[in-house]
Amino acid sequence: MTKLFKNYEEYLSVIITMIRDFSDESFNRIGLAINVCHSLQDDSEKIFRLNASIIKSLWEIPDAINMGIHQYFNKEFEQTKRLLEYHDYNCKSSIDCIVCQTKIITVNKLRDINEGTRPKIHSK
Ligand SMILES: [Zn+2]
Repeated sequence: MTKLFKNYEEYLSVIITMIRDFSDESFNRIGLAINVCHSLQDDSEKIFRLNASIIKSLWEIPDAINMGIHQYFNKEFEQTKRLLEYHDYNCKSSIDCIVCQTKIITVNKLRDINEGTRPKIHSK
């Protein structure tokens, strides 16, 4: 495990922004993993569990396959983390902020999955 993040909370906040364009199937997988993580105690266990789902989802992205899944993950994670650091410092109002709005959409999507309100997605 690379040392890109100090704890699960920080890891999750980057992941939430990073997965915005992932497929519904990946959203389902990641949503369920986050749910499992709620029941785990240890931060490194949570990161390990969620990261396994992220890595699996990256296999749907041609760029990630070309570059190498782990390299791609590290690059995306670093970029997203920097974007969020910049954002946290500069965000004035979440209403007209694209980063905040995107985050809200993603969080709602993940919550819906865990509440089972979304129809089951069948794999092709
Ligand atoms: Zn914002």
